[in-house]
Amino acid sequence: MKTCARKIEFCYAHRLMNHEGKCANFHGHNGIVWIYATTLSFSPLPSSSSSSSTSISPSTLGLDLDKVGRIVDFAVLKEKVGGWIENNWDHKTILNSEDKSTIEILNKLSTENIFLLDNNPTAENLAHYLLWEVCPLVLKGLNVFVNKVVFYETSNCLAEEIALDCNMIDELKKRYR
Ligand SMILES: [Zn+2]
Repeated sequence: MKTCARKIEFCYAHRLMNHEGKCANFHGHNGIVWIYATTLSFSPLPSSSSSSSTSISPSTLGLDLDKVGRIVDFAVLKEKVGGWIENNWDHKTILNSEDKSTIEILNKLSTENIFLLDNNPTAENLAHYLLWEVCPLVLKGLNVFVNKVVFYETSNCLAEEIALDCNMIDELKKRYR
């Protein structure tokens, strides 16, 4: 199975409710996200009975590339996913929607832009949101789906959201159709 990936960098502020230490304070990150895409239209795999007698070219197994030989142009991942991040997260404050007192304070600052999540804006939750909500929204109809997001909160710390088992992949693919 082939995947291709595009790196997207952005700046954001956040704080984590109920954190035991410094992450409960406002602070910022230079986040780095790797978006891994693969094709939605896999070639049908041969049945086990025919595979023993038929020679199969590896290039026809399990993957359809476009006429150029790509899963998707890297520029499309940058434009679609990077564009969404630039418009919604870059240089903004990402907060838990339960963080009412902080939201109220920031709403008084006219220059402040807030993005609300249903949970804490951890690297894990941001990677999850990108994989399950953002990528299906912006890449629908392009014959690709994102099966893995790697989110670097710092150069030393990352979280991954990966569609590994068949049920997860099927559920994810439905969001692209
Ligand atoms: Zn942080």
